[in-house]
Amino acid sequence: MKLWLKRGVLGLIIPLLVIAVFLSSCILKQDEQLQSDRPSVNVFSARHYEVDRAVFQEFTKRTGIQVNEVKGTAEELIERMKREGQASSADLLIVVDGGILNEAKESGVLQPMSSDVLRDNVPAEWRDPDDYWLAMTARSRVIVYARDRVNPESLSTYEDLTHERWRGKLLVRSSSSLYNQSLLASFIDLYGEQEAEEWAAGIVRNFAREPEGGDKAQARAIAAKIGDVAIMNTYYVGQMLTSSDPEELEIAAGLGVYFPNQLTTGVHTNISGIGLAAYAPNQENALKLAEFLTGPEGQTMLVQGSYEFPVNAEADMPALLRSWMSFIRQPVSIAELGRLHQKAADIFDQVGWK
Ligand code: FE
Repeated sequence: MKLWLKRGVLGLIIPLLVIAVFLSSCILKQDEQLQSDRPSVNVFSARHYEVDRAVFQEFTKRTGIQVNEVKGTAEELIERMKREGQASSADLLIVVDGGILNEAKESGVLQPMSSDVLRDNVPAEWRDPDDYWLAMTARSRVIVYARDRVNPESLSTYEDLTHERWRGKLLVRSSSSLYNQSLLASFIDLYGEQEAEEWAAGIVRNFAREPEGGDKAQARAIAAKIGDVAIMNTYYVGQMLTSSDPEELEIAAGLGVYFPNQLTTGVHTNISGIGLAAYAPNQENALKLAEFLTGPEGQTMLVQGSYEFPVNAEADMPALLRSWMSFIRQPVSIAELGRLHQKAADIFDQVGWK
């Protein structure tokens, strides 16, 4: 019995030790990279799109500046920057929500970043008035529908999705997603808290299932006939339509993209954006990378890979993306989305949107 117990314990300890050694070597490697003598720039990134690596490699090819990426959620990365303060190795913070950029600004982990090139690359509407952040891409949260089961003429607004004809048919990811927090924040800004809460409650009533997975998982659930309509960002449909995975191609072929609220308050549009870290050790290189990411070539590479919308009008876009671009946007400021995140989170709790 004792021997069995001993073997059992060793059997647990040895794999745990192996995992610990492996993890610590990974962390060492990352830290060595961050302190390398080569010209470099350290990017704290919450983005998760394959194209980013290719864009960074192109930047390195042109400038000789190595890009070291540290990945995490926006909250984790900002927390780490706060904790490490002046000792932080972060040069650029890149996140996938404008609201959280504003929170980063207000929490003191960023500093202003401006140059004539950046001002030329990014229109003022996509920049913080105090230059603490700027957009690198824009993204729209729309209605995606099953082409074989939904007539697009039956679609109109985000509000209409709360109608009982969509009962049990609506798919959307969880409320922990910044995408949903900013969407609800935009409604609080446009209509006030009361109406925003009624909207969220109406959406919950129409759920096809408890929220699970990211935006692409909602598309998959449409293909599996779990629901008929989903709230999703457009670029995931673009990525799937041009995927090398035959299964994704098939799913995307059955989807329609609908831009809601075109006669009323416009489509909710958010940004993925960049901020310069308050204590960036490689400021000049960081500025060069920000200029490349927002310049015509960086933008062309980014949007051809991710199907997000460019912020620089000189970007060369795939035809599909161009066909999606003529919609009316919500008149909501990106900074306002961040200020309303907490209120949005409270409403999600109240209405039981997990
Ligand atoms: Fe995304």
